[in-house]
Amino acid sequence: MSRWSKVPLGPEDAILGVTVAYNHDPNPKKINLGVGAYRDDEGKPFVLESVRMAERILLEAENAMEYLPVAGDKTFVKNALKLAFGSECSAAPGFENFAGMQTLSGTGACRMGGELLARFYDAPDVYLPTPSWANHTPIFKDAGCTVKGYTYYDASTCGLDFKGMVADIEKMPPSSVVLLHACAHNPTGVDPSKAQWDQLSALMREKHLVPFFDMAYQGFTSGDADVDAYAPRKFLKDGHHMILAQSFSKNFGLYGHRVGCLSFACDSVAEAQAVESQLKILARPMYSNPPIHGVRVVNEILQEKTLESKWRLEMQGMAERITGMRMKLRSGLEARGSAKIWDHITSQNGMFCYSGLTPEQVGRLSTEWSVYLTKNGRISMAGVTSRSVEYLADAIHAVTK
Ligand code: PLP
Repeated sequence: MSRWSKVPLGPEDAILGVTVAYNHDPNPKKINLGVGAYRDDEGKPFVLESVRMAERILLEAENAMEYLPVAGDKTFVKNALKLAFGSECSAAPGFENFAGMQTLSGTGACRMGGELLARFYDAPDVYLPTPSWANHTPIFKDAGCTVKGYTYYDASTCGLDFKGMVADIEKMPPSSVVLLHACAHNPTGVDPSKAQWDQLSALMREKHLVPFFDMAYQGFTSGDADVDAYAPRKFLKDGHHMILAQSFSKNFGLYGHRVGCLSFACDSVAEAQAVESQLKILARPMYSNPPIHGVRVVNEILQEKTLESKWRLEMQGMAERITGMRMKLRSGLEARGSAKIWDHITSQNGMFCYSGLTPEQVGRLSTEWSVYLTKNGRISMAGVTSRSVEYLADAIHAVTK
């Protein structure tokens, strides 16, 4: 008998399974709306020109390829915090009290945050919005935290259940950690308004709760990275001991390079040093140190005005293409005389549309139309193109009649 015979076969990841089914389909009209990655209007993976330019500069510089320190590149961490909180705020007194480390993208940032909570925080109950990114639960559970949920989405309006959210937050025991998607909520595309963020910040201060922001799509809601950072900036101003996980996968298109940052707002430099020292102790036996190329690209872009402006324009272009597809899909469904209301396609934000399609309708989309998406009805709008949007409207109309 083999030594490994007791290892059971695990289930396929639900999101990656959609791509497997898509790849097996010979229909030339097939559409993959499962992947959470930006595609251009040809449906192809997109490398930003600002990233290519930064890479050319790096190639010329012939940099060494030595190991980074365990906590990663310090300059990158500063740049990441500046991008999140704005140059004014990051130059203000007190900002040196931030503990920060480079992480294996947004996933790694959430995981390291969870690890630190499980090891050192007295109340490591992490509350996730219902629903949340499917990976949040295993990330925080595997880190050793207890995962709980709070009301977020209202299926009857395909919008935010703000009343329910506030009611649940009011009931949380003091010191609980509340995970908040900073913008472009995945999977629903539904975000609180500025006024609602203000109210949430005040409520969480009053209830002594700890905000844990996951910012994986900075720029994808409005096209402007500063506008999208409203919530973490407001919470910082209001004095929360907040945690922030940042991903550079989507907004810089650096998916496979695994570029991310985790930070903690502390009360003093000494406290920040202690948190950083423990993050290093956690990271060293896991992966020793993070990868070097992606953070060099980000540094090159964020430290050079022309490149930064180019990146901001490209970011805006990605967001605008998605908004354009939202409008075309909605008007396409309305033009076909759909009796359903499709306002949420345009009122939701970011990369995803939580369509309200039932699992049965999603099944019909794949078997009858070769249109693939996750069972929960989440459409990756970044996968819709000018060429496929009319076909998609036909398909959705047919299965929702
Ligand atoms: N957080 C959310 C809400 C996400 O949707 C994602 C990716 O889909 C991530 C974090 C992490 O992505 P990555 O590890 O590629 O940065």
